[in-house]
Amino acid sequence: MPTEIKGLNEECGVFGVWGHEDAAHLTYYGLHSLQHRGQEGAGIIATDGEQMRLEKGLGLITEVFEEKQFDRLEGHGAIGHVRYATQGGGGYENVQPLVFRSQTGSLALAHNGNLVNAHALKHQLEAQGSILQTTSDTEVVAHLIKRSGHLPLKERIMQALAMLKGAYAFVMMTEEKLFVALDPKGLRPLSIGKLGDAYVVSSETCALDVVGAEYIREVDPGELITIDQEGLHSDRFSEPLQRTLCSMEYVYFSRPDSNLDGVNVHSARKRMGKELAKEAPIEADVVTGVPDSSISAAIGFAEQSGIPYELGLIKNRYVGRTFIQPSQELREQGVKMKLSPVRGIVEGKRVVMVDDSIVRGTTSRRIIQMLKDAGAKEVHVRIGAPPLKNPCYYGIDTSTKAELIAGNHSVEEIREMIGADSLAFLSIEGLQEAIGSPQDSLRHGQCQACFTGSYPTEIFPNTVHPYEKV
Ligand code: SF4
Repeated sequence: MPTEIKGLNEECGVFGVWGHEDAAHLTYYGLHSLQHRGQEGAGIIATDGEQMRLEKGLGLITEVFEEKQFDRLEGHGAIGHVRYATQGGGGYENVQPLVFRSQTGSLALAHNGNLVNAHALKHQLEAQGSILQTTSDTEVVAHLIKRSGHLPLKERIMQALAMLKGAYAFVMMTEEKLFVALDPKGLRPLSIGKLGDAYVVSSETCALDVVGAEYIREVDPGELITIDQEGLHSDRFSEPLQRTLCSMEYVYFSRPDSNLDGVNVHSARKRMGKELAKEAPIEADVVTGVPDSSISAAIGFAEQSGIPYELGLIKNRYVGRTFIQPSQELREQGVKMKLSPVRGIVEGKRVVMVDDSIVRGTTSRRIIQMLKDAGAKEVHVRIGAPPLKNPCYYGIDTSTKAELIAGNHSVEEIREMIGADSLAFLSIEGLQEAIGSPQDSLRHGQCQACFTGSYPTEIFPNTVHPYEKV
């Protein structure tokens, strides 16, 4: 998961509750279980039907919130957000939910994803006199909604959503209603649950489980859901298009206990490991996974190959952001803070090291060296996904093409650069087979653009990779 050691980061998780007297506390617990989707900032806004009150800050959810803040966050409705800040997009003002207040009421928004036409929309709005206060795409949406003020709010939201291109999972709230929307291709995950009479919405189902909500269904691509005292109403702002849910959610981002589009993440990862063992078998003594996200795939590889799974690498979970990191010199002397090899397991052994991705190659090289320093005779690297060759424009910081090792080098070159004895990646077909939902069905398909370069939406000429956003 993104709290790990590689240069891959999700950009946000959203959560919302409507119809529960302790909506803000539930949102806090929900966000806590979505923390892996963003660690740079967190916020919760709650409404009691008359006022909306916001608390937000930079840092982890446990660093941002104290119990006394919940005295302010009273009410039956709340939405929240955890944020991973893109470069140039950090700072308190960009921490969500963003709230826009006017004489007719307030609108709060929380967004997961990235709009590929945000640049063009910003220009259009500024040319028409709008003054944008943040660098976030979310504010663009708020201005689009505000623009046609004479229409009822739901109509305005539908019109604004229809202008957006790219990936978005939105939760929005006024004093009277909760709105939930997913982009027409369903690039990001978004689920609805029920807790008694209350509705709960979350980026991942693990957060529904944590608050005791029962999963009802996925939000449909191109659907706007309105929840108010009369219940849940569904509208479409776009015809359903072929769903292209991010396959990296299955490979890496989502928690193993979440279900994405009906498929359990741990089980999908285990199948990725099994497929990999079929596609790229190797003679070895032990299989180990790079913690945490590759453990499931490593178990699958071991099961399929008959080679025992062992805990060859362990992660130190208590390296916080305030920990004094060792200098480069101390690091070279062997001070490793995040990951340690288990010498008793790997010494003298031929090790299969299962990982879920190679981004720049530096982390892989370091881990392989660590295993060899601990006495591993051979290190065979098996990656439970195809090579990451292309940047993501939909809200995942996968680095730019120039930085992606597989975007610029062959598998054999990468093997040599990372110092592995052998290296193999899972094929696209193997990945699809492992995820298990048919690509040809309109409702169930995945985006594979970072592997194939075939993007499911138009990429506008001035679309910037989120990491380069200024
Ligand atoms: S390009 Fe890759 S990371 Fe981005 S949405 Fe598609 S599959 Fe996910």
